[in-house]
Amino acid sequence: MSDQIKYTLSESEMPTAWYNIAVHLPVPPPPLLNPLTKEPVTPEFLNALFPMGCILQAVSKDEYIDIPGEILDIYRQWRPSPLFRARKLEKFLDTPARIYYKYEGVSPVGSHKPNTAIAQAYYAKQEGVKKLTTETGAGQWGSALAMACSYFDLECQVFMVKVSYYQKPYRRSVMGVFGASVAPSPSELTEAGRRILAADPDTPGSLGMAISEAVEVALKEQDAMYSLGSVVDFVLLHQTVIGEEALLQLEKAGETGADIVIGCVGGGSNFAGLAFPFIRGRLTEGKDTQMIAVEPTACPTMTRGKYAFDYGDTAKMAPIAKMHTLGHSFVPPGIHAGGLRYHGMAPLVSMLAELGHIEARACHQTGVFKAAIDFARTEGIIVAPETAHAVKVTIDEALKAKEAGEEKVIIFNLSGHGLLDLSAYDNYLADQLADYEYPQEAINKALEELPEIPEMALAD
Ligand SMILES: *Cc1c(COP(=O)(O)O)cnc(C)c1O
Repeated sequence: MSDQIKYTLSESEMPTAWYNIAVHLPVPPPPLLNPLTKEPVTPEFLNALFPMGCILQAVSKDEYIDIPGEILDIYRQWRPSPLFRARKLEKFLDTPARIYYKYEGVSPVGSHKPNTAIAQAYYAKQEGVKKLTTETGAGQWGSALAMACSYFDLECQVFMVKVSYYQKPYRRSVMGVFGASVAPSPSELTEAGRRILAADPDTPGSLGMAISEAVEVALKEQDAMYSLGSVVDFVLLHQTVIGEEALLQLEKAGETGADIVIGCVGGGSNFAGLAFPFIRGRLTEGKDTQMIAVEPTACPTMTRGKYAFDYGDTAKMAPIAKMHTLGHSFVPPGIHAGGLRYHGMAPLVSMLAELGHIEARACHQTGVFKAAIDFARTEGIIVAPETAHAVKVTIDEALKAKEAGEEKVIIFNLSGHGLLDLSAYDNYLADQLADYEYPQEAINKALEELPEIPEMALAD
């Protein structure tokens, strides 16, 4: 078929293992540190927060980790997700590039997030946990975890970044339908929240603050654990089903791989999910596939942050990780891509960028929304504001290929649809979105508060 648009896999072709990129790194990744002692964390310390099933995955020496049958049974509800060839967009751009997108918006809540939410709820349930707490920005992660908790009959408490709580009321509704309780963060429900509110009653909130609140509740309540929607190694691992499927689908499309792999980055999980199986080709076969991680200029973690040890949250309760960071006290402006407003970046993505395997780009939001509108008008899908960052760079690269007359194969991760983000589109169409460059002085100030790490902690 020459003009095929959708490349699908049958349920029996779905990959049955996650890809553990850590084993292919040229040097071991730096350890996570205990925020109090600044010593490398022990599994016991992490186990106060996360299920052992997830912690052990992060230290596994296996290249592939089998996905438990019960998780596969749930994945099959929407996986394998389709790979689309963006033929109408290609025509509109008049580019010789072949553009593909992996569509994760087919999950029940409309994003890639259930790939890890289901896994985390499964392991928590197995270990006798009764309740999961978490933070959410735009609400996609909270929706995914709320759904997963309802599948596994777990209680779910979500701290939602205050600005998004009011900007995105419908994601709040989604969480409510699944039975989760949702509070705007910072809240009066936790010590961390009360302390932040006392210092700054009008704060818009941040993911770092919401994480502090969720971690506090998980540590205080006996049967509760904490769930994280991005950043940590096991979340990235769970997302690799995306890239494993995409490799098989590109093969079905007659491609030998991709020239450029693109994803937006908040904490790095959807990007990693698509990119890691392609980076395997770089690490083990010397392939030169180009990897581009796209972030907003309003939260330029990779392009302007520092690669350093920093706390995962504002109140310094979560583990310290070596990552690209804008400082744990960073409070980003209330841009619409709420899922891209975390101060840090996944340690594995950060390390691979330092090693030269990933490049980062920052985009302004008006250009991003323009790209999303072009995409909607050609391909029909209204993408999430986060995803629109990947669309922007995909279009930029396709136009570059046109200029150079090159038949590049470009694939991007369409991490989620934007049907609950229409107010952002309304604002764009009404010319009410402004570009925003985070001021250097503010970044410098937040970076002054990075923790000091004793050399001892790092001696192996
Ligand atoms: C949460 C989210 C993101 C950002 O998070 P990552 O961990 O960087 O993937 C991007 N797109 C969508 C649709 C999201 O829900």
